[in-house]
Amino acid sequence: MFFGALSKLPRKIVDYAVNYLFVDAAQGGDNANYYDSKSFKKYRGVIRFEPGVWNKSLKKIEEIIAHEIAHAYLRHEFGMHHTRANELAADELASKWLGRKIDFYEKLFKKLEI
Ligand SMILES: [Zn+2]
Repeated sequence: MFFGALSKLPRKIVDYAVNYLFVDAAQGGDNANYYDSKSFKKYRGVIRFEPGVWNKSLKKIEEIIAHEIAHAYLRHEFGMHHTRANELAADELASKWLGRKIDFYEKLFKKLEI
């Protein structure tokens, strides 16, 4: 599932993810999160997937993976990456990579503002 979704991204982004990101499993719900890391020498950060992510549609999984890699690629810092600007930037870059509009976080933030 993970590699199938990863392979939908541009080759240079796949290389970036393979070389610089660590992927880990988390407990709990159905979210994924990116954590930047200054303590790892080789890895720039970690993407942690909660188990429910893998029950989503393949299209959604592709979007989640692209979105989280975009946080890493844009060098968002943990604690800062949940700002609206960072979420929209990650969605925008993920949209570019996948060639379709990803607006999951745009919708989420609109909902939160009500
Ligand atoms: Zn995000």
